[in-house]
Amino acid sequence: MQLIPMLINGKWVQGDSQGLIDVVNPSTGQVLAQLKSASEAQVDEAVRAARSAFESAQWRQVKAFERGQLLIELAHYIRMHAEEWSLLECRDVGKPLTQARADVEAAARYFEFYGGAADKIMGDTIPIEDGILNAVVLEPVGVTVHIVPWNYPLQITARSVAAAIATGNAVIVKSAEDTPLTTHAMAKWFAGKLPSGIFQHITGLGREVGPYLTTHPDIDHITFTGSVPTGMDVMKAAAQNIVPVTLELGGKSPNIVFADAPMEQALEGVVRAIIQNAGQTCSAGARLLIEEHAKEAFVALLVKKFQTLKVGPGEADVDMGPLLNERQYVKISTLLQQAKKQGFVITGGETITIKGYEKGYYIQPTIVDGVDANAALAQEEIFGPVLTILTFTTIEEAIELANGTDYGLVAGIWSKNLDTAHYVASRVKAGQVFINNYGAAGGIQMPFGGYKKSGIGREKGFVALRNYTQMKNIAIRYATPE
Ligand code: NAD
Repeated sequence: MQLIPMLINGKWVQGDSQGLIDVVNPSTGQVLAQLKSASEAQVDEAVRAARSAFESAQWRQVKAFERGQLLIELAHYIRMHAEEWSLLECRDVGKPLTQARADVEAAARYFEFYGGAADKIMGDTIPIEDGILNAVVLEPVGVTVHIVPWNYPLQITARSVAAAIATGNAVIVKSAEDTPLTTHAMAKWFAGKLPSGIFQHITGLGREVGPYLTTHPDIDHITFTGSVPTGMDVMKAAAQNIVPVTLELGGKSPNIVFADAPMEQALEGVVRAIIQNAGQTCSAGARLLIEEHAKEAFVALLVKKFQTLKVGPGEADVDMGPLLNERQYVKISTLLQQAKKQGFVITGGETITIKGYEKGYYIQPTIVDGVDANAALAQEEIFGPVLTILTFTTIEEAIELANGTDYGLVAGIWSKNLDTAHYVASRVKAGQVFINNYGAAGGIQMPFGGYKKSGIGREKGFVALRNYTQMKNIAIRYATPE
């Protein structure tokens, strides 16, 4: 069985922990690889190595455009090995191959985008008075920690690592215990290209290894992507050392469908927004808010569509793969059993056994209707292919429902009336709003992040470079010649 090593200070090492953690293919239930958790001493070694690499003359002498070229080289490498990396992601997460391929391409684009940006991160000058040149300089923050969830391991690692290396930091990635494979592939590439300590990969159980990283006194920034409760722990840990955090957390995002929506596109958008990656997407469109008098016709089409969706192993590349692991499978199927008993499930709600893949974690794409807007099914992130329907009769009611959860990550608005759409967009509390589409083809360039408990800060786009830079003001007085 393959043991996934960590990359610490340029060396491939196993975690010091006794126990082995299985990395399971959710489509088959088979163990793909194993890993061990890092000890506190190993995390400390990684932070020391990162600090020393960051402060080294060798790293300072790498020019900004050279850092950029290196990232662009990685983008080329990823594209050349796209099929191999897609298979790794497909087996690790269980997602259909087409979705894994899209993730691999997105990762390549992040490295390309931030690689291109590396020598365009410009500061500023501010007019003060004659004889003073005032420069605002953006410097790398130093040692950046990147804690990654299991749902989009490659994309999420790529987006913050690319921005952090482009700006000249030393990065330490902690991959999710379930899905280390593509980060390991990335580590293998970086190992031969960067000075030791500039890219390091730590593995292990989040609740054990995570705090070793987040409470470490010598880190300079944490980018955490994951659930709200863990995000709170990360923020508390970071507070001990006044370390800034970028938090990309969960969501319960609405698709708001008005009666005058372009119905074909809306239908397609609503379905894709909840079944992509089996609903295990932070920005999943988990709530359908539909105008009362359009409901019957739209929901009839939606149910029909859900019932034709094919569920199967990632490699079969059907519409929807399995859930990630047994824990998620038991949690969500139990929840759906209760919802069924209460009469809320209008389609789906059952687990599925697929011949030849009996140990995979498959459930039916599910629609829930008739729940109160304050019920758990309408408020809490389920992180599965479960769509909850709520209805509205006025624009204000739609806005109130859209904003009526603790989250604020994404919102979709479907209406041909652009007055309505723009008005709703201006009132919805969400970091990204899509009008008559949902996701806009991935949006490497678009700032992404949450209002309310969906997070702090923004990733993606040019703005994310600010997460990884410190701002320094330098005022220089110069003498006027006699
Ligand atoms: P999680 O919070 O359980 O774990 C995320 C990461 O944190 C993992 O690497 C885990 O090992 C680590 N971790 C666990 N406990 C920790 C601790 N005490 N200290 C530090 N690190 C710790 O989340 P998950 O189940 O892996 O991912 C699903 C969640 O992530 C969902 O809520 C989803 O919405 C969210 N998510 C958000 C985004 C976004 O960009 N907003 C993207 C993807 C996923």
